[in-house]
Amino acid sequence: MGEGVLKRYREYLPVTADTPMLTMGEGDTPLVESRRLGKEFGIGHLFFKLEGCNPTGSFKDRGMVVAVAKAMEAGHTTILCASTGNTSASAAAYGAAAGLETVVLVPAGQIAAGKLSQAVAYGARVIQIAGNFDAALDIAREVAENYDISLVNSVNPHRIEGQKTAAFEIIETLGAAPDNLFIPVGNAGNITAYWKGFKEAHDDERASSLPQMMGFQAEGAAPIVAGHPIADPQTIASAIRIGNPASWSSAITARDESGGLIGTVSDEEILEAYKLLARMEGVFCEPASAASVAGAIKSARAGMDLSSSTIACIITGHGLKDPSVAMGLADRPQEEAPADARTVADMLGARPKR
Ligand SMILES: *Cc1c(COP(=O)(O)O)cnc(C)c1O
Repeated sequence: MGEGVLKRYREYLPVTADTPMLTMGEGDTPLVESRRLGKEFGIGHLFFKLEGCNPTGSFKDRGMVVAVAKAMEAGHTTILCASTGNTSASAAAYGAAAGLETVVLVPAGQIAAGKLSQAVAYGARVIQIAGNFDAALDIAREVAENYDISLVNSVNPHRIEGQKTAAFEIIETLGAAPDNLFIPVGNAGNITAYWKGFKEAHDDERASSLPQMMGFQAEGAAPIVAGHPIADPQTIASAIRIGNPASWSSAITARDESGGLIGTVSDEEILEAYKLLARMEGVFCEPASAASVAGAIKSARAGMDLSSSTIACIITGHGLKDPSVAMGLADRPQEEAPADARTVADMLGARPKR
């Protein structure tokens, strides 16, 4: 526990005698059972995998530790990524820990404050690109192809390898694969990684079944559902605001091989799930993460019988990443009072003890 994914899962990862055993304690995140939401929507056993508990607050750390360790092993001194925010936070942190220069390309003005503050704090070189994420990724790929710089986006296969370890953990905790896995889909690396992890575990008999993969894109950023790239993707869930996913075809494979689906949820459904998670479960996630739960709620409402199912929703990132969304949704006014206990007690309608 706390040993990190490289050490814990080394036999399943591209680890050689020369791979540095880099870690910041990523992985081993909680899988908590729903207390109220599952009952509310008629779901047998509903679990949340809290990936916001990783060192930089998102699942990106699982793959980043592998990608950065392999960059070190290859002798690179600079790592580069395009990012909607969390990849840059993770690259900057692991780059700092490894003593590498980190360069992050972000869509100008579109990064949530918490994420940008991380890249800045960890000392990355931040370049705001006058374009969206898809444009930034094109540039990152072109630079890495032609120059001596290591690309650490999820097009780097080491990222997918690291991220698949979350599937192993779910199987270890439940003692079996869940029946359905609900997951947000942006660049589609994570759904690809989970499916790879579940299949590997199934192949070497650590699990006797495979889950149905249930991926959800935001309605305004749903190229896989539409069947074509979206030029100007729009959604409040900035981590999945992607119009041309890099792992498009492997997401389709995950969907089809598992008999699952890739669907859409609206921003309203995302925000409903975001609020319900916080208020009924005490789980504060960022909007993109709530797309998994929004997808489960939407499926239950559409009549999918989950009453005897064990389902896992991947809560991909922490709510503190994007505090402005929480503040914008506050529906209890913040009150003011003088620094006086009697006044506060009166405001609460509290009765004196006898
Ligand atoms: C990156 C990210 C996603 C999307 O994952 P993909 O692998 O790009 O599909 C979802 N939620 C959060 C919080 C993320 O950081």
